[in-house]
Amino acid sequence: MKDKTLLGHELNPETLALGLGYEPSLSEGAIKPPVFMTSTFQFPTAEEGKRHFEIAYGLRQKDPGETPGLIYSRINNPNLQIFEERMAVWDKAEKAASFTSGMAAISTSLLALLKPGDAIISSNPIYGGTHYLFHKIFPEFGITVHTVRGGSNTAADIRSKIAEVGASKIKLLYIETPANPSNVLIDIRAVADVAAEVTRATGRKCLTMVDNTFLGPVFQTPSEHGADLTVYSATKYIGGHSDLVAGVITGPASLLEPITGYRTILGTAAPAFNGWLLLRSLETLSIRMRRASKTARKIAKFLTEHPRVSKVYYPGLLTADDPQYAIYSRQCKGPGALISFDIKGGEREAFQTLNRFKICRLAVSLGGTESLVEHPMTMTHSDIPPEELEAIGVGPGMIRISVGLEHDEDLLLDLKQAIV
Ligand SMILES: *Cc1c(COP(=O)(O)O)cnc(C)c1O
Repeated sequence: MKDKTLLGHELNPETLALGLGYEPSLSEGAIKPPVFMTSTFQFPTAEEGKRHFEIAYGLRQKDPGETPGLIYSRINNPNLQIFEERMAVWDKAEKAASFTSGMAAISTSLLALLKPGDAIISSNPIYGGTHYLFHKIFPEFGITVHTVRGGSNTAADIRSKIAEVGASKIKLLYIETPANPSNVLIDIRAVADVAAEVTRATGRKCLTMVDNTFLGPVFQTPSEHGADLTVYSATKYIGGHSDLVAGVITGPASLLEPITGYRTILGTAAPAFNGWLLLRSLETLSIRMRRASKTARKIAKFLTEHPRVSKVYYPGLLTADDPQYAIYSRQCKGPGALISFDIKGGEREAFQTLNRFKICRLAVSLGGTESLVEHPMTMTHSDIPPEELEAIGVGPGMIRISVGLEHDEDLLLDLKQAIV
């Protein structure tokens, strides 16, 4: 399927996930793309091999309609290319690039875009691996990272931070929304507006990059709200079956070009088989995320009514009087399927609850077909200092649940018998 439209209508990503970017006649008519398990690709002629390299190494501009030829699987591979085309559609972006992991996507992209002397501003909390990259590794490369608290005031706080440190070096604003595990939302448009102010003030483009792992691409499209780049751990909802680790970034071709250049040299492209698994996953992405979210709403409601639960953190529970509600209504198309809640008591009561689950599995990660529960304070967020944990609302009684695809009645039964 080459066309993205029919009778003048733009086709939806669910439909394009079943055909875009793949031509069956090139693969013996196979309905599904085969796994292109090959390290290298045979050139039809020496002349064409030369042309492929000219494009790959940027020695020549592409002719109109010319697609880069296949050379070597660290540079490109059909399974990844098909996945990338379909991801770009989901995110309303020009291009996508896939990686061996979410961390490979984040680190490769930022290394391509930032240079020694640059500074970035990041929301907090962010994923632990990203936090380590920003605060332990980037300083070694002369890249400075300033942080602001994620929430309704993030854009204003970024503006104050810029007033304090100066705009001249600020190259990128990095946010993760909703924040993990408290589900606090950041206004993407407001942050992108600050980036535009920096661009005007300095004459140098300041970028906005959003980690969209928790709601995207089904329930949140950052490019519609001014974000330049959207990055994912595809290990989570996109992969969706807890059977692979992968990452992807989407954005304009002008930014994806240096990023894929770095990917070739750093060697962080995903393997072909993971590209194939991701194609399988994209076909059911919308149906999986919508179903999990529908069940999550029921679970969130059950939890708010439970006498042993003191607080529930879930965007689906926001009410109009909350400043977060305006952000939710503007930029989220659904509340997702990640819920955190506080059990009355402390670590002991939380652990007793966690140990009683029969259907939900005790494991970190999220976004898979099976429901997972974990204890943020002593697991995913255990390396964060206690005062910081308190500021981001993580206490000893907090449990995080990633709602999967089990029958909602069975999950409610499991919660009933676990929370006593
Ligand atoms: C898991 C995760 C990452 C890292 O992704 P990997 O695929 O594990 O490398 C980054 N950001 C968020 C929000 C995540 O949940």
